[in-house]
Amino acid sequence: QKKQPWEKEFLQAVEEVLSSLSLILEKDKKYEENKILERMVVPERTILFQVPWYDDKGELHVNQGYRVQFNSAIGPYKGGLRFHPSVNLGILKFLGFEQVFKNSLTTLPMGGGKGGSNFDPKGKSDNEVRSFCRSFMTELYRHIGENVDVPAGDIGVGGREIGFLFGQYKRIVDSYDSVLTGKGLAWGGSLIRPEATGYGNVYFCQEMLATKKDGLDGKRVLVSGSGNVAQYTVEKLIQNGAKVLSMSDSNGAIIDEDGIDAEKLAFVMELKNVKRGRISEYAKQFKNAKYVEGKRPWGLVKADIAMPSATQNEIELEDAKALLANGCMCVSEGANMPSTNEAIKLYVEAGIHYGPAKAANAGGVATSGLEMSQNAIRLSWTREEVDEKLHNIMRSIHQNAANAAEEVGTPGNLVNGANIAGFKKVADAMIAQGV
Ligand code: NDP
Repeated sequence: QKKQPWEKEFLQAVEEVLSSLSLILEKDKKYEENKILERMVVPERTILFQVPWYDDKGELHVNQGYRVQFNSAIGPYKGGLRFHPSVNLGILKFLGFEQVFKNSLTTLPMGGGKGGSNFDPKGKSDNEVRSFCRSFMTELYRHIGENVDVPAGDIGVGGREIGFLFGQYKRIVDSYDSVLTGKGLAWGGSLIRPEATGYGNVYFCQEMLATKKDGLDGKRVLVSGSGNVAQYTVEKLIQNGAKVLSMSDSNGAIIDEDGIDAEKLAFVMELKNVKRGRISEYAKQFKNAKYVEGKRPWGLVKADIAMPSATQNEIELEDAKALLANGCMCVSEGANMPSTNEAIKLYVEAGIHYGPAKAANAGGVATSGLEMSQNAIRLSWTREEVDEKLHNIMRSIHQNAANAAEEVGTPGNLVNGANIAGFKKVADAMIAQGV
């Protein structure tokens, strides 16, 4: 902490994982003897580069580009690209570190990585975004490959950006490689990939509730964010009879006591994906909804379940207290590291269902893995086939995490379960492969 205070999100992620691993490191000395922890907290390779691009007025801008290739013990590096002004090395190291464990949990052969830029796509024209993406890929292309590193989307990187990035990659290397996931359906993408993180989180939540013979029907749910993950979380919740009370963006939150139904969700999707507008518009459109500027949804109304789907550290200790005081009995994480370590401690002490991000939101990268498989065999699976595979993967992630938690004497603690199950596979592969 003292050595690298500027990487606070990374240190937070490492601290969370280490708190669980102490339970197995004492029992099995091979990890210590092989200095596995020391190796796992340092990325295998970190690439930093400049991204110069011209805006529509002909003015030159320069952004910072990154790719953190964290761990390739069980497969090629895999993890998204984030375009957001807050991006820095500490944020990408936390995301890459988490990705290593998450990808291991999916049961698919994928190592972990993450990348992106401090470029802000908000308010930029399509032409400006294309100009940026082309410049970004002009450097990145030499570091990626279908057996090397396969990036995907994340905050600020959706179908539009993946398209521009892929187009530039193909132009440079003159080869139709499966080098990115999240591609459009007509050019190598997979059905269900856009839905996968949100749907997967809802499937995971159902698995947790089922351990107490409970389900989603009639449950009051708070969702944050209104981007890719939030939209499909809300869609699957509605399909399962839950009442979704909120969505949000970086300016504020809307609360709708009537519940967000399929028609209202279609409005949000048009607003966010096509018009690129603000969530405050929702409250102008639907009369019983209210918009709360500058707030997150937590604690604004009574709710049974919280599904944070916006960004890191969006549930701090006070938010977690407000959730519990309002009767929340389940937190299932769509965003990466949305809860601070103090908030997590509170959930665990209170004994509520808690699905940590690296398990609950792994459906997105798992379906990216399925996209790579389809590209490799040059076939496309149907919507039903991909959805069923996703559902089965989420079930096995839950089961494996629950088993691992039980084995170390902390039944039901999926923080320990996910960290230990994710760690073992990677660590054992590292030992087998030597240094
Ligand atoms: P999007 O860019 O599609 O949406 C992000 C949403 O979160 C937007 O509503 C955005 O608001 C809001 N948001 C972003 N930053 C902040 C902030 N600092 N404070 C408050 N709200 C914020 O991204 P995704 O939906 O893809 O990603 C959301 C989360 O899910 C991230 O943590 C990501 O790492 C994680 N994730 C995504 C996966 C995927 O498949 N896409 C897979 C696994 C995890 P605004 O519109 O104002 O920017």
